[in-house]
Amino acid sequence: MSVPERPTAQAHREVAAVLRSGELAVDATAGNGHDTVFLAERVGPAGRVLAFDIQAAAIEATRARLAAAGLAERVGLVLGSHGDLAEHVAPGTVAAAMFNLGYFPGGDHGVITRRAETLRALDAALLALRPGGILTVVCYPGHPGGEEESEAVVDWSAALDPLSFAVAVFRHAGTVKPAPFLVRATKLDISF
Ligand code: SAM
Repeated sequence: MSVPERPTAQAHREVAAVLRSGELAVDATAGNGHDTVFLAERVGPAGRVLAFDIQAAAIEATRARLAAAGLAERVGLVLGSHGDLAEHVAPGTVAAAMFNLGYFPGGDHGVITRRAETLRALDAALLALRPGGILTVVCYPGHPGGEEESEAVVDWSAALDPLSFAVAVFRHAGTVKPAPFLVRATKLDISF
């Protein structure tokens, strides 16, 4: 039996198919900076990444990872909530926005993304997307509060206008434990 692709790897693959060199990308949950580094590599020297986290330790971990990779100059780090994304990016300018929900691995597991703020940030991220832009959300139903948040993200994605967004929820059937999964929304680029 083949091992299912991890949702974080799947999110990278989906974003890599859309994000072009020179574009603007958002990491809504910087954490240890793995996604930020990935985005910074993809946008190239002429591109820009904005990465958010509410924990100073996460911002510092991301800063260190970027410095080690020589990518710090193309990234703006915001110590603050992704719910305030609209204050930092103009509508229609972002090619890719990545959310990796839950807690900071290696940090305080009591500080987690929260349903209401996540939904506020997702709405802001959709407005920020350029035509053809992509939003990915890795959901973690396994920790306390995670299932409620994950279901809210699925419900949110199901309510999006199908004429404006192509939505996919990649849940793996038959897992015993609630397994992490990816939700993806692409802003359709249709000119009539
Ligand atoms: N993308 C990260 C990586 O590649 O290492 C992992 C992210 S980790 C699973 C989730 C992060 O979301 C935590 O670092 C946490 O502090 C952050 N977070 C929680 N609430 C947030 C909020 N309202 N705005 C921004 N970040 C938040």
